[in-house]
Amino acid sequence: MPLLQISEPGKSAAPHQHNLAAGIDLGTTNSLVASIRSGIAETFPDIEGHHLLPSIVHYSEMAITKVRDDEIIVGNAAKSFANQDPLNTIASVKRLLGRGLKDIKTLGTRLPYEFVENEGQGMPMIRTVAGLKSPVQVSADILKVLKKRAEKTLGGELTGVVITVPAYFDDAQRQATKDAATLADLNVLRLLNEPTAAAVAYGLDKGASGIHAIYDLGGGTFDISILRLHHGVFEVMATAGDSALGGDDIDRVIAQWIMQQAHIANDAEHHQIRELLDVARTAKETLSTQNTAPLNIKLDNGIQWQGELTHSQFHELIDPLIQKTISPCRRALRDARLTVADINEVVMVGGTTRMPRVREKVGDFFQRPPHIDIDPDKVVAIGAAIQADILAGNKPDDDMLLLDVIPLSLGIETMGGLVEKIIPRNTTIPVAKTQEFTTFKDGQTAMAIHVVQGEREIVLDCRSLARFELRGIPPMVAASARIRVTFQVDADGLLSVSATEETTGVHSEITVKPSYGLQDTDIERMLRDSLEHVQKDVATRTLREQQVEADRVINALRAALKADGHHLLKHHEFLEISAALDELLRVKEGNHVQAIKRAIEHLDEITQSYAQRRMDTAIHHAMTGHRIDEFTQEN
Ligand code: AMP
Repeated sequence: MPLLQISEPGKSAAPHQHNLAAGIDLGTTNSLVASIRSGIAETFPDIEGHHLLPSIVHYSEMAITKVRDDEIIVGNAAKSFANQDPLNTIASVKRLLGRGLKDIKTLGTRLPYEFVENEGQGMPMIRTVAGLKSPVQVSADILKVLKKRAEKTLGGELTGVVITVPAYFDDAQRQATKDAATLADLNVLRLLNEPTAAAVAYGLDKGASGIHAIYDLGGGTFDISILRLHHGVFEVMATAGDSALGGDDIDRVIAQWIMQQAHIANDAEHHQIRELLDVARTAKETLSTQNTAPLNIKLDNGIQWQGELTHSQFHELIDPLIQKTISPCRRALRDARLTVADINEVVMVGGTTRMPRVREKVGDFFQRPPHIDIDPDKVVAIGAAIQADILAGNKPDDDMLLLDVIPLSLGIETMGGLVEKIIPRNTTIPVAKTQEFTTFKDGQTAMAIHVVQGEREIVLDCRSLARFELRGIPPMVAASARIRVTFQVDADGLLSVSATEETTGVHSEITVKPSYGLQDTDIERMLRDSLEHVQKDVATRTLREQQVEADRVINALRAALKADGHHLLKHHEFLEISAALDELLRVKEGNHVQAIKRAIEHLDEITQSYAQRRMDTAIHHAMTGHRIDEFTQEN
């Protein structure tokens, strides 16, 4: 199946021109930049040969006086300030991107920074000696270093970059990532989901279709994503993970074991614990290639303790932790309604997947050997670089352009608190869809547009994304105005909604940037809820629709009675209609759909002759002063 191709006007490359483009993995712990050179995707090192740039930024007072980028210290050099000056050394800023202060407080980890609420914008700021810094600015400082590194290596300016984000990043987190790129003077060709980038690095997008598991175990976090390649589109079928599980936990269990062996007390000095963790980490990494790892610790009493960690002891210590990653794998499969047998390929991402034991256990679970050929630290950046090269127009023969889908349906609130879905979930992006709406009441001159996200039928069960108003609608009879509402989702999953009244052209629009976002678990919950409540939701929808119809009938009839009821109806007719109207008003408040329907039908029946009389009167008025043939002749 050929993949969709989009050529951006004015962006496609001349045959021999090569547009410089890069892929950036903006990670929680480390970031990388990669590009295609001589047909090969590679990550770029700094002058000391380090490819990984620790995602740590240190701000010093110097940075206020003269804001030169190189006075803001980023990476390894900033790492050394983490202990001595934690308030001004920002690490793991990705966890804060696109989050409100409320979300940050619930992150679980205690952060050493001083947060200041930024009135109006909802974005929290971090107080540093160099002034208030938003997570977007801190991320931009990391991106600037990567941009410089790439431009120096490639010998020219970058035309664009692809930046990767976790699959579960919501609109606000994606927008914050794009804002950071803009601040770093980078042109974002596209944001790409990290697991999708890893799949691209292994060329899995070249297959016709398939279901792949991307297992990402880093230093501090674990993510599993199930991707489905279908008609050239990677759909994220499910994600799961553990935001507090990774290589650091393995270091801790080894360190604890050494403490027991060397009889080190649990309340040992901080520096002793630090040393133990360093020794543990070295031993762990040694055991990825050797059968045993020597252990040497200088104890506080001056004695040098020596020991050894064997493979079998190591496995005994770490197997429970590896096992902890298997439960989220099971959960992700269950959520995607799949079994292990449905998985075609397994891709390993993250430094901890270098451990042969992890590869073995993951291979056992998925019943197939995982892909391990590409450095698991670089695989995401490499996938992003491949994608950036295509988007920059360097591969005119390559008809592939990877497209994503939206994870939850987008719609607007209609009368009765119901949701009208405009773009259903799993629609390929970019996408634009338009639907016509109309006014509910006579003379209505404004319309409140409430944009919601979710699978449920009732607004209250969905997530509210934004509200805006369309004003200046000319007063008309109910249901005669034509309001076109357009939903547009760009390639990065950002939504803009616009509304236009057709006759006057009055227009209003909004770009949705929620101040805080959904976690992957929220998306999972919303999808599960929608499946569990499907019957109840359909029933509620039918009832609400019937109630809205009742309101419409009541409003129209009341207006008619007020205008000419006493004039056109005999007294007993007036009383009969009024009684039926009261009955409809009464049953409308209940939850009996059929009763409301019957009351509407009854009212319809007994008002037929009244409607006829009204019609006749209207025609009579219209014809007064005209000859009959004016109405019968064709012109
Ligand atoms: P990441 O967050 O993806 O950079 O992964 C970092 C984690 O990978 C740290 O816990 C490292 O100790 C671990 N790691 C890196 N190389 C190896 C290796 N050769 N064997 C075992 N773990 C490793």
